[in-house]
Amino acid sequence: MTIDNARKKELAELAEFISIDYCPHSMVLPELIAEKSGVTYNYGEYGDCFDGLLEHDSNDFHVYLNTQNIQSTDNARLRFSFAHELGHFFIDEHRNALKKGKSLHKSYYRFQRKNIVEMEADHFASNLLMPTSRFKQAVQTRKFDFSLIESLTKEFGTSLSATLLKYIEIDAYPIMVVFSRDNMIEYSWKSNDFPYKYFIEHSSKKTPPLTVAGDYFNNGLKCDDTEIVEASEWFSSYDDIRGIKLFEKCIFPNYGKIAISIIWQ
Ligand SMILES: [Zn+2]
Repeated sequence: MTIDNARKKELAELAEFISIDYCPHSMVLPELIAEKSGVTYNYGEYGDCFDGLLEHDSNDFHVYLNTQNIQSTDNARLRFSFAHELGHFFIDEHRNALKKGKSLHKSYYRFQRKNIVEMEADHFASNLLMPTSRFKQAVQTRKFDFSLIESLTKEFGTSLSATLLKYIEIDAYPIMVVFSRDNMIEYSWKSNDFPYKYFIEHSSKKTPPLTVAGDYFNNGLKCDDTEIVEASEWFSSYDDIRGIKLFEKCIFPNYGKIAISIIWQ
């Protein structure tokens, strides 16, 4: 289940319009947008129930943000949750559903299968925090390497994963991101011009062993550096790709047995 392109574009434009309107010269601040839109909010510790929640009561909207289990340095995660809840407020269909008393699902930040309403709010959040025109301007003329993504996370106040997905979306440079859990490839995203699309373990979905991610699952090694790997270790191709090298940089989130590989030429 995915959002169709026309809807994606509509949500991105709505989010960008709001960001540029409320935060024309600074980093996008969800708090400020909420205040100026009459949405109240608070931070609290709410256990593991949710990351963010938008509540409606007789035309008043309130955002609850859960700081439980969030390190004070992980501002990006709270900002994304806040932006996601603002999505439920600003997207007409979501707000109207709330007004009719239909509850939206509690929102979780983590990667997991989501329903379409949650995916729409995530897409809105991504574009609210990283408005396309501003993001494109920031990556223009900058060559891809991992430090670029790191500096973008600081510039936009976003997590590595959210920033990577946005980077892929605007097709700035051919890269692929592979999300593996428990030695299996669960999701992957690639820019349109990334040259490979078939994993070597196409049917079994196993993370290939002779890669940085594979090294983590098979040998418990967390390599923090950008490594050079053989294209043929990750991908199969009708072309002869023996000898072609790729870069791989892995991120190891602090939840679950997960490796997120960034692969580029
Ligand atoms: Zn939600």
